[in-house]
Amino acid sequence: MTNQNNVPYISCLDLFKIYKAQDLEVVALRGLDLEVMAGEMVAIVGASGSGKSTFLNILAGYDKPSAGEIRVGERNLLHITAKEAEDYRLRNVGFVWQQTARNLVPYLTALENVELPMILAGRKAKYRIERSKELLEAVGLSHRLNHKPNQLSGGEQQRVAIAIALSNEPELLLADEPTGELDSETANEILDIFKSLRDTYQTTIIIVTHDEAVATRVDRVVIVRDGRASAEIVSLPDFRRPGVESNNK
Ligand code: ADP
Ligand code: MG
Repeated sequence: MTNQNNVPYISCLDLFKIYKAQDLEVVALRGLDLEVMAGEMVAIVGASGSGKSTFLNILAGYDKPSAGEIRVGERNLLHITAKEAEDYRLRNVGFVWQQTARNLVPYLTALENVELPMILAGRKAKYRIERSKELLEAVGLSHRLNHKPNQLSGGEQQRVAIAIALSNEPELLLADEPTGELDSETANEILDIFKSLRDTYQTTIIIVTHDEAVATRVDRVVIVRDGRASAEIVSLPDFRRPGVESNNK
């Protein structure tokens, strides 16, 4: 993991994404600049259609930008092959979707759901079970190990989803509107879990949301408008960006 002084872990420069659908072109990202330090917890806030999911999908290696630069650690995501992207998604990135159902396999228990990515990564059974239990405990679900998704509340399902996303010890955790289907109290609990996981595992976390209330629960909020970063809110002192003295950017 890159964590030397001022070297950002994520670096995006003048990022463009243009979708072409039939005769139409949609510019989803238009010159997005963003740097994120290792271990930072950042919220990307913006109205619907501002390009948040587009950006997160590019960061996760699901999609490629049309122009600009994007690096995550040592990786240049503009030039990554399909095979490298697959490996990156399995081992380096965890992803939590808004739709709770999309995160979980319905016929598997919470424990088995968390084990699944580790099976794909070739981990041994003993390790898988120990780590799954540890992660489910970290998200406050040690009493729900053998429950299936339909026996869990929406908030509990998202907790399992976060444990799944962390199963292969990713450096980077991405969440697209992870609290979008939850009431505000449950949403705040989930955000606090993200923060405690960041503190435990030093994972870099990026949460996309249209809810500005998230601001008090992350290190920094980046406001995105029309496909580019338009403002920032930095909260100190929980996390100090190396080399940054004040809130001014
Ligand atoms: P947000 O997540 O902030 O709501 P999105 O990144 O989903 O925004 O979308 C940004 C813009 O790009 C929107 O205008 C959307 O309609 C468009 N868009 C997103 N995905 C596609 C796609 N696969 N094909 C065409 N246009 C798309
Ligand atoms: Mg979206």
